Amino acid sequence: MHFRLLQDVANFVYPPCCVCCRGAADEGAFCSKCEEELSALAAAHACERCALPLADGGACTRCAGEGIYPFARIVALGAYREPLRESVLGMKYRHRWPVAEILADRMLGLARVRALLDETDVLVPIPLHWSRQILRGYNQADCLARRLAKYRRGLRVVYPIVRLKNTASQTIVRSIADRDANLRFAFGLIDRNAVRRKRITFVDDVITTAATLKAAARAMEEAGVVEINGLVIAVADPRRRDFQVV
Ligand SMILES: [Zn+2]
Ligand SMILES: [Zn+2]
Repeated sequence: MHFRLLQDVANFVYPPCCVCCRGAADEGAFCSKCEEELSALAAAHACERCALPLADGGACTRCAGEGIYPFARIVALGAYREPLRESVLGMKYRHRWPVAEILADRMLGLARVRALLDETDVLVPIPLHWSRQILRGYNQADCLARRLAKYRRGLRVVYPIVRLKNTASQTIVRSIADRDANLRFAFGLIDRNAVRRKRITFVDDVITTAATLKAAARAMEEAGVVEINGLVIAVADPRRRDFQVV
């Protein structure tokens, strides 16, 4: 009763607004328009191995169904466009870390995400460089992973790698070759026992060419992991055309 009253007062002072467009959200975290668009993004056809959004029934133009080495599969909530884009930017750059939990809950609503977590022993959030983490105050991938770990007992979040280089943001490094070079030796293994003989799933916010995930996987080479997967909020178009030409 008291809680209900407090909630009503809070809603009056701070009316619930949409995580993406800041418009009115009657229920849940999104307004009805963004909610509809988000559901469409999550339901859109995508490659089962690398999560690239595809035209219905089309073969994958990135991995031809083979996946991205060394990942068994990469799973995403949807394409990096509204309402996911604005939600992710708010989560990363505007201190809206609770958005990570809202998006994690959306991910847990998808059968493909639950299927991946059923076959995952440990979640590994992609670490930020310590200097960036201090400036931001949190790592959004860690917020995401911790919420995803609530999916089932025994699913743990571990921290076997650190980021050694404070690399330029991948979104401003243009070519695929530059992205790989930018990230060479970007991560270092500090705890192989946390992942030895485990099926691991990296957790991150957005992938474009998957260069960051591949660099993190490279740091695992000597760790004796059984399988590597990726789980991300969104997939951005490597050709920067927002998947208009699929
Ligand atoms: Zn909205
Ligand atoms: Zn693919």
